This record gives sequence, C-alpha cells and structure tokens, in this order.
Amino acid sequence: MAKRLIFLGPPGAGKGTQAQILSEDHQIPHISTGDILRTAVARETPLGKQAKDYMDQGELVPDALILNLIQDRLSYEDTANGWILDGFPRNVNQAAFLEELLAKLGQNADCVLNLSVPDDVLVERLLSRKRKDDNESTIRRRLEVYHQNTVPVIEFYQQRNLKTIDGNQNMEAVTELLGQAIS
Ligand code: ADP
Repeated sequence: MAKRLIFLGPPGAGKGTQAQILSEDHQIPHISTGDILRTAVARETPLGKQAKDYMDQGELVPDALILNLIQDRLSYEDTANGWILDGFPRNVNQAAFLEELLAKLGQNADCVLNLSVPDDVLVERLLSRKRKDDNESTIRRRLEVYHQNTVPVIEFYQQRNLKTIDGNQNMEAVTELLGQAIS
C-alpha cells in the first residue's frame, strides 16, 4: 500500500482524526504541522512565540517558519517507511518546496488524499469543537484562507495521484473509503 500520504482538506474536515487512524494501522508517523505548532506555542519556544498571533487570528504562519520545520521533521529516522502529512502543504509555495525536498530525499508522495466537506457543515463542526482558535470569527477567516491558499494546492496535485473523498459522512465510512483509496 501507499505509505507516503499527503492529506488535504479544509479545517474541520477530519484530517487529523483520519490521519491518526491510518498512522496507527500502518505504523507510519502522523506529521501534523498544526500539532507541532500548538506544542511549540504551549512550550513558549521561539517558534511558538512567533507563530501564536497568526494562529489565534486564523492566518497561516509565515512559510519561513514552516518550511524549516518540515525539512527537519522529514529527516527523522521514523520517516524511512513512510509518513502522513496533515496540514502541510497549505499553499502552492509550500507544495513546490515539498516537491523539491522530496526529490532531494529520493522520495515521492504515493497518494494525495483530499477530504471534501461543505463550508456550512465545517462551521457547525468547528463550533462544536473546543479548541482555542475555534471561535466564529477565526473559523470564518480560516475557511477564507483555505479557499484562497489551499484550494490551489488541490489544483497543483490534480494531474497526479489526487483522490478526493467525501468527508461529509460518519467517521467509520470515511475511514473505509480512505483505506480503499490507498490500498
Ligand atoms: P485546522 O485544519 O483546523 O485549521 P491545523 O491544526 O491544521 O487546524 O492548523 C491550525 C493553525 O496552525 C492554522 O490556522 C495556521 O495558523 C497554522 N498552520 C498549520 N499548518 C500550517 C502550514 N502548513 N502553514 C502555515 N500555517 C499553518
């Protein structure tokens, strides 16, 4: 099965939950830039201090902070057998950087999974979640940022191994479809 997976999808699509399940089932690391950043913010590291205000406002953190972080993370030994990227790439510049980085590492993404969920469902889901950046104005901004910056990434991968999955159904059904998509 495909072991180098890129997860795309709007905030609230369920990427994190599904990526975690796949990570455990296939014993490959789940690399979530959002999780890495939230840990950095909680620990008040230099990265966290620089990222915090952007995250609180629903803006993307500058690429300068994210690209190093990903390069670093993909050099860990646990990535030898594969990985799941969740929350990266989030704009076309990040996608182009990833292409080059993978070429240098002699790797290739096996599959790009795009979890699709309508905006009104996302707003409802995010409002019922209790993360610090899940208030109504930040949610609206994150969705705008998604449409402006991340939808073009779907187009970037369109010619390749992109698979769009309907994320607007129960968790088990989505897990099942994802399993079929990568097998
Ligand atoms: P969600 O998918 O619900 O927006 P994430 O955990 O993926 O949540 O991201 C939370 C926040 O972290 C984003 O709103 C953004 O500020 C920041 N972030 C995460 N990944 C990236 C990235 N690849 N580039 C820029 N900012 C990012």
